[in-house]
Order: sequence, then C-alpha cells, then structure tokens
Amino acid sequence: MSASRTFNGLTVDINEDLCIGSGNCVSMAPDVFRLNEESVVEFTDDPEGEDPDVIVEACALCPVDALSVIDEQGEQIVP
Ligand code: SF4
Repeated sequence: MSASRTFNGLTVDINEDLCIGSGNCVSMAPDVFRLNEESVVEFTDDPEGEDPDVIVEACALCPVDALSVIDEQGEQIVP
C-alpha cells in the first residue's frame, strides 16, 4: 500500500509495507506523520502546513526508506 501528498511542490510517498514503526519521521515532523494503531506511519489529517525542509529531513531519517520525496522537477531527492 502507499499514500502520497504534495507540499509546496514536493510529493511525499509513504510505502506502508516497508514501515517498521520506528517513529523517526513522527518525531521530526509530528504535524505531518503519525503512527496508526498498528504502528504504521500515515499522514496526519492536516499535514500541508509544514516547512518543506523539515519534511525532507524527516523522510531522510527513515531507516528503511519507506518515505520518498519527489521535487518540483520530478527528481527523487529522498531516499
Ligand atoms: S521513519 Fe520510516 S520506519 Fe520509522 S515510522 Fe517513519 S516511515 Fe516508519
């Protein structure tokens, strides 16, 4: 399964199948990511207001590359 959101031109994709629930992304960007009842990451209800730099950093912290980021030019910048 996957889910994606766009933030000021950055597209973030969650691959729930890879997430191991470490919570790194949640700690860095709690307004964007949360863990569901199965300890798998999901987007919060209103994630769009976060600073894009924080989002990129949060995604880069994922130990299993479950979070990918595509920039405005279509380049994958994380992982
Ligand atoms: S950092 Fe990666 S493994 Fe950890 S909760 Fe976030 S998506 Fe899941």
